[in-house]
Amino acid sequence: MNIIPFKHLDSVPMAFEAKQSKVVFSGTIVHKKHNIAQLNGTIAGSISISCDICAEVVERALNEEVSFYLSDGIVHENDNELEIVEIENSVIDLDELFNSELELIKSDYFCCSNCEGKTLEQEF
Ligand SMILES: [Zn+2]
Repeated sequence: MNIIPFKHLDSVPMAFEAKQSKVVFSGTIVHKKHNIAQLNGTIAGSISISCDICAEVVERALNEEVSFYLSDGIVHENDNELEIVEIENSVIDLDELFNSELELIKSDYFCCSNCEGKTLEQEF
């Protein structure tokens, strides 16, 4: 379980770490104001991902900076420059956040080193 109740957050950044096979999601969460917290983290390690051109599965090294706001409930003002993720039941589920970040990374365009420089158009 990797769950942090929103009310445990403080203006002092709280460190967190979540692991999944060969990837580590780590960073800090800090309470900003009212029902808003900010997460700053890094996703580092490697994932198995298939090339969008040749479909070969290769290991892709990851070192992604992620930064977004977490809101406990609805945010009325939206003058924020960062994405806001609304949490459920007043708890931050780090594994769930990690999974959705990984899904985003996996859905990115990716081509292996053999295919670099080629484009999808040349396949047709
Ligand atoms: Zn390829």
